[in-house]
Amino acid sequence: MSGQLFISLLNPGIGLLFATAFFLMWLQRRERYIAFAAGAYLATAAAFLILDVAPVLPMELQRLPANMGFLATGMLFAAAIIDRYGLPVPWRAMSVVAAISLAIFAWFLLVDPSIPARIYAISIGAGAIALMIVQALGPVAKPYLIDKVLFGVAALSAANLIIRPIVILTFSGGFDDYVGFQQSIYWTTVQFSQAMVSIIAAISLMVAVAIDMIGELRREADDDQLSGLLNRRGFEATAGSALRRCLDGGRPAALLIADLDHFKRINDTHGHAVGDMIIASFGAHVRSIAPAEVVAGRIGGEEFAILFPGAGIEAGRQLAEAVRMGFQAACAGRIPAGLHPTVSIGLAAGIPGEGLSRLMHDADQALYEAKRAGRDRVRTFTPKVVSPAAAAS
Ligand code: GH3
Ligand code: MG
Ligand code: MG
Repeated sequence: MSGQLFISLLNPGIGLLFATAFFLMWLQRRERYIAFAAGAYLATAAAFLILDVAPVLPMELQRLPANMGFLATGMLFAAAIIDRYGLPVPWRAMSVVAAISLAIFAWFLLVDPSIPARIYAISIGAGAIALMIVQALGPVAKPYLIDKVLFGVAALSAANLIIRPIVILTFSGGFDDYVGFQQSIYWTTVQFSQAMVSIIAAISLMVAVAIDMIGELRREADDDQLSGLLNRRGFEATAGSALRRCLDGGRPAALLIADLDHFKRINDTHGHAVGDMIIASFGAHVRSIAPAEVVAGRIGGEEFAILFPGAGIEAGRQLAEAVRMGFQAACAGRIPAGLHPTVSIGLAAGIPGEGLSRLMHDADQALYEAKRAGRDRVRTFTPKVVSPAAAAS
């Protein structure tokens, strides 16, 4: 009997432990999905405690809240996973399923008592809720292993909840009374398989939280807050590999280096805050007009680099002109009315076998030409061809 008690303590213990862990994580990162996970484990702990450990209450008082707790666990757990992907949580559908399975449960508790029927009602209801996770995540891209694991955990929970009662009840027959049920192989299997699924699910979710945090730190390290573009480090890493992929695959690539004109004067005349607003507007402008595959970064104070994979010189020039010509409109209303900032842009085409730094050097040369020719214009880098005549002389 004391062995039975230990098994009984397994699920409440695991539930409370993970509820605490997720709560502590939530204190660090106020993300809704982490709070849902904490709630799910709290609900599971409460439900198992009421059922197995609580002083013997009248049966109805014990069964109903405990099984509400199991269904709440399923709903909160589904909410945690679905919300992590920013998808709408199907609260309404889940509530309907939970209400139906509780109603069936209550019928077979109060009107026509039957333990197996009650088991089917709750287990299949919870399984249907788990299937909603599978359904929500099915069409979503799963770029990382952890995404596949979370999907697998949902599918495993659904299978565990739906198949287990059918198989075990078929083989073990019914239960004579409630004491028989609690000592049955069915209930022991529930406790063990639930504990296993609980642990796997919690660890997967914790790994997901860790991966989200690492991703966020990495993005922070590579992003420029003011412009909303990459910073120099982020640009060099991302553009470097994008350029390599492009050229290795035989596709062209164009690089723009843009430098805001007379920026020192703008700062001196209108103040640093206006200068900052112009940098922010330029970043927003580039993000709004650049095609999705473009990699853009702020590589210096008022200097930007934009890699356009797949673009030849002509497409690169079109993007550069669009950046240049739309710039003032992008600043309009955010800076003093009489101020019309301009930008000079140098453009260069990727050369197979040459890396990003060479390409940036070429575009920089073209930028210098644009500045020299009077600013507010686009210039293209043209490699200096040594003519045979010049070489001979
Ligand atoms: P040019 O047309 O030749 O590019 O002239 P310029 O004045 O833009 O060039 P210069 O390199 O002489 O000056 C760049 C100025 O950009 C100097 C610096 O005060 C300003 N700057 C650099 N970073 C920031 C920033 O984050 N915010 C603001 N407001 N100004 C910045
Ligand atoms: Mg400048
Ligand atoms: Mg500059």
